[in-house]
Amino acid sequence: MQCPRCREALIVTDVQHCARCRGAWIANAVVEGRIAETQGRKRAHVTWERETRDSLPCASCGHAMETMLLFQVPVDRCGDHGVWFDAGELDRVVAASQERSAHGRTMLDAVVDLFWLWG
Ligand SMILES: [Zn+2]
Ligand SMILES: [Zn+2]
Repeated sequence: MQCPRCREALIVTDVQHCARCRGAWIANAVVEGRIAETQGRKRAHVTWERETRDSLPCASCGHAMETMLLFQVPVDRCGDHGVWFDAGELDRVVAASQERSAHGRTMLDAVVDLFWLWG
């Protein structure tokens, strides 16, 4: 699988990531499974807001991904396959998660946990 941003071959772990641009590819099922687990639900409650910026091709199928806001962090998502986080987006997700930590674990905490799998 190739990095949709710079075309480097992705390194395969639980989360696939790009050694060159530090982006990360996470399958939808993995993202939503971890979120559901954190929420104690069978199905994850996730709110994706549409955002407009140049779209990247899905690392799996090559179709243009939708840019969505995940707690105000714009990420690229293929509804059939997964979510692409650029390197700087990870930092923003972590920051947003910390802002919300006073209210207990959030969906973002679950997403952030995913990144520690390959850290
Ligand atoms: Zn890359
Ligand atoms: Zn796809």
